[in-house]
Amino acid sequence: MNARAHQVTVFEVIKETADAVTLVLDVPQAVQAKFIYSPGQFLTLRIPSEQEGRGGSVARCYSLSSSPHSEDRPAVTVKRTAGGYASNWICDNVAVDTVLTVLEPSGSFVPRSLDADVLLCAAGSGITPVVSIAKSILTAGSGDVALFYANRDRESVIFAWVLDELAASFPGRLTIVDWMEEDQGLPGSADIAALARPFANRDVYICGPAGFTATTRTALAQLAVPPSRIRNEEYRSLEVDPFAEPEVRVASSPKAGRTAAPGAHTATIEFEGETYDIDWPKNEPLLDVLLAKGLDVPYVCRESACGTCVCSVRSGRTRMLLNESLIDEELDRGLTLACQTVPEADGVHIAFDQD
Ligand SMILES: Cc1cc2nc3c(=O)[nH]c(=O)nc-3n(C[C@H](O)[C@H](O)[C@H](O)COP(=O)(O)OP(=O)(O)OC[C@H]3O[C@@H](n4cnc5c(N)ncnc54)[C@H](O)[C@@H]3O)c2cc1C
Repeated sequence: MNARAHQVTVFEVIKETADAVTLVLDVPQAVQAKFIYSPGQFLTLRIPSEQEGRGGSVARCYSLSSSPHSEDRPAVTVKRTAGGYASNWICDNVAVDTVLTVLEPSGSFVPRSLDADVLLCAAGSGITPVVSIAKSILTAGSGDVALFYANRDRESVIFAWVLDELAASFPGRLTIVDWMEEDQGLPGSADIAALARPFANRDVYICGPAGFTATTRTALAQLAVPPSRIRNEEYRSLEVDPFAEPEVRVASSPKAGRTAAPGAHTATIEFEGETYDIDWPKNEPLLDVLLAKGLDVPYVCRESACGTCVCSVRSGRTRMLLNESLIDEELDRGLTLACQTVPEADGVHIAFDQD
């Protein structure tokens, strides 16, 4: 079992709408330090499954809807996906005192600062990380928050009462623009551009279905918002099971001297206070190489989307095969995703401690 997996007990189940529940979690004292999180991050839940080929469980990510700044216990909010396995299992089976196996928080959909003004764009269950960011900025920071929130109909609006309370408590700092598809149809890029225009100089955080994200990005491009100020969280189901023993995709690399084996580059890796000199096969992602060496490197999706395996290139040349989570500013700081990074020359130095 993944060393970052822990058992937590469900403290409370809150029915938010006919299709969505919030699970408030009781994290044991002994691991509370590992569950310190930033607004916008997510947990990964292990869901039992008897289905053939599922290996006894599936893993799914759920954003934390609680704020680490104003709530004692972490909470996730899950909306049923039509025909989906895990979301329906959670809504039908999880109750107070259910024990869940959960990975420590991760993710990079996190505000740069709680003191900066932001534009938040959410559709449907995409409100989950967004409400955590809004609560955190309003209660613990000094930034102003504009929220564009699209929903199919009034019955499906998650956190309507939370947003009403925030609006009443922070009247000068929170602007909410609701979009109701049953009345207005799907929002188009011109609609979103018109609503976003007064806030176009802010950092933007988008969470919702792929179509909503694409339309919002088009709107922001019309307003000339630089991509480096836009972050989005894409909801999708994991292909891999991060709770299982990691699938080793490369042959274990022997500890090298300073001369690389054929087809590999030399590299130095800093991880958890230790330094490793490795042979890094030219086409193998760093995460795969380190897992093959038995290092317990944090990861969730292995597809570049979640940002869990982020590390920093201190020197040397590398490239990423795919990048769906790091923005330009982070790339400029040398950050890279271990699950997608391959070497381009000898002498690469990478550290998992980003300070
Ligand atoms: C970082 C992150 C944060 C997230 N946060 C949240 C959150 O806060 N709240 C939330 O509700 N969700 C969130 N999600 C989404 C969540 O992880 C799941 O993807 C979602 O709950 C659906 O999972 P499921 O098992 O119910 O559906 P799945 O079983 O994975 O099915 C998903 C879709 O695929 C279809 N499907 C399934 N199997 C097949 C097949 N064999 N062939 C064809 N189609 C198929 C289903 O019909 C369904 O439409 C998040 C995802 C990520 C990556």
